[in-house]
Amino acid sequence: MVDQRSDRTRRHLMRMVVQGILQGISAGLLARISQAHAADKMTLQQAEYQDKPQGIYSCAMCTLFEPPKSCKVVEGEVSKYGWCKVFALAD
Ligand code: SF4
Repeated sequence: MVDQRSDRTRRHLMRMVVQGILQGISAGLLARISQAHAADKMTLQQAEYQDKPQGIYSCAMCTLFEPPKSCKVVEGEVSKYGWCKVFALAD
Protein backbone atom coordinates (compact mmCIF):
# COMPACT_ATOMS: atom_id res chain seq x y z
CA MET A 1 0.00 0.00 0.00
CA VAL A 2 2.73 2.42 0.96
CA ASP A 3 4.70 1.44 -2.15
CA GLN A 4 1.72 2.21 -4.42
CA ARG A 5 1.28 5.66 -2.86
CA SER A 6 4.94 6.54 -3.14
CA ASP A 7 4.91 5.23 -6.72
CA ARG A 8 1.94 7.51 -7.55
CA THR A 9 3.62 10.44 -5.82
CA ARG A 10 6.84 9.80 -7.75
CA ARG A 11 4.94 9.61 -11.05
CA HIS A 12 3.06 12.80 -10.18
CA LEU A 13 6.33 14.58 -9.39
CA MET A 14 7.94 13.31 -12.59
CA ARG A 15 4.94 14.53 -14.61
CA MET A 16 5.18 17.97 -12.96
CA VAL A 17 8.92 18.16 -13.69
CA VAL A 18 8.44 17.18 -17.34
CA GLN A 19 5.56 19.66 -17.75
CA GLY A 20 7.69 22.40 -16.17
CA ILE A 21 10.58 21.62 -18.50
CA LEU A 22 8.32 21.62 -21.56
CA GLN A 23 6.69 24.91 -20.51
CA GLY A 24 10.13 26.44 -19.94
CA ILE A 25 11.35 25.25 -23.32
CA SER A 26 8.29 26.56 -25.17
CA ALA A 27 8.40 29.93 -23.37
CA GLY A 28 12.11 30.28 -24.16
CA LEU A 29 11.56 29.19 -27.74
CA LEU A 30 8.75 31.71 -28.23
CA ALA A 31 10.90 34.48 -26.77
CA ARG A 32 13.76 33.58 -29.13
CA ILE A 33 11.45 33.41 -32.15
CA SER A 34 9.97 36.84 -31.41
CA GLN A 35 13.48 38.27 -30.91
CA ALA A 36 14.60 36.76 -34.20
CA HIS A 37 11.52 38.22 -35.87
CA ALA A 38 12.31 41.69 -34.52
CA ALA A 39 15.94 41.27 -35.56
CA ASP A 40 14.85 40.39 -39.10
CA LYS A 41 13.45 43.88 -39.58
CA MET A 42 15.55 46.74 -40.87
CA THR A 43 16.07 49.86 -38.85
CA LEU A 44 14.55 53.10 -40.06
CA GLN A 45 18.05 54.25 -40.99
CA GLN A 46 18.85 51.08 -42.96
CA ALA A 47 15.63 51.49 -44.92
CA GLU A 48 16.40 55.19 -45.40
CA TYR A 49 12.94 55.93 -44.07
CA GLN A 50 11.61 59.46 -44.37
CA ASP A 51 8.52 60.99 -42.74
CA LYS A 52 7.25 62.38 -46.04
CA PRO A 53 6.12 60.73 -49.28
CA GLN A 54 8.50 60.14 -52.18
CA GLY A 55 6.64 61.90 -54.93
CA ILE A 56 3.23 60.27 -55.07
CA TYR A 57 4.37 57.16 -53.17
CA SER A 58 3.88 56.65 -49.43
CA CYS A 59 3.65 53.84 -46.87
CA ALA A 60 -0.15 53.91 -47.15
CA MET A 61 0.23 52.57 -50.72
CA CYS A 62 2.90 50.01 -49.83
CA THR A 63 2.01 46.32 -49.53
CA LEU A 64 4.33 46.05 -46.51
CA PHE A 65 2.47 48.67 -44.49
CA GLU A 66 0.56 47.43 -41.42
CA PRO A 67 -1.92 50.06 -40.26
CA PRO A 68 -1.95 52.07 -38.22
CA LYS A 69 1.81 52.62 -37.72
CA SER A 70 3.80 49.46 -38.51
CA CYS A 71 5.70 47.87 -41.32
CA LYS A 72 6.42 44.21 -42.02
CA VAL A 73 10.09 44.82 -42.79
CA VAL A 74 11.04 48.04 -41.01
CA GLU A 75 11.11 48.17 -37.22
CA GLY A 76 9.54 50.92 -35.16
CA GLU A 77 6.72 53.27 -35.98
CA VAL A 78 6.17 54.41 -39.54
CA SER A 79 3.71 56.98 -40.78
CA LYS A 80 1.22 56.27 -43.54
CA TYR A 81 2.62 59.45 -45.12
CA GLY A 82 6.23 58.17 -44.91
CA TRP A 83 8.31 56.25 -47.42
CA CYS A 84 11.47 54.15 -47.57
CA LYS A 85 13.68 52.52 -50.20
CA VAL A 86 11.97 49.15 -49.69
CA PHE A 87 8.64 50.55 -50.84
CA ALA A 88 6.58 47.86 -52.61
CA LEU A 89 3.67 48.94 -54.73
CA ALA A 90 0.76 46.51 -55.08
CA ASP A 91 0.36 44.98 -58.55
S1 SF4 B 1 7.46 52.30 -47.69
FE1 SF4 B 1 8.99 51.26 -46.42
S2 SF4 B 1 8.48 51.80 -44.31
FE2 SF4 B 1 6.71 52.28 -45.57
S3 SF4 B 1 5.42 50.46 -45.39
FE3 SF4 B 1 6.66 50.24 -47.25
S4 SF4 B 1 8.48 49.09 -46.63
FE4 SF4 B 1 7.48 49.85 -44.77
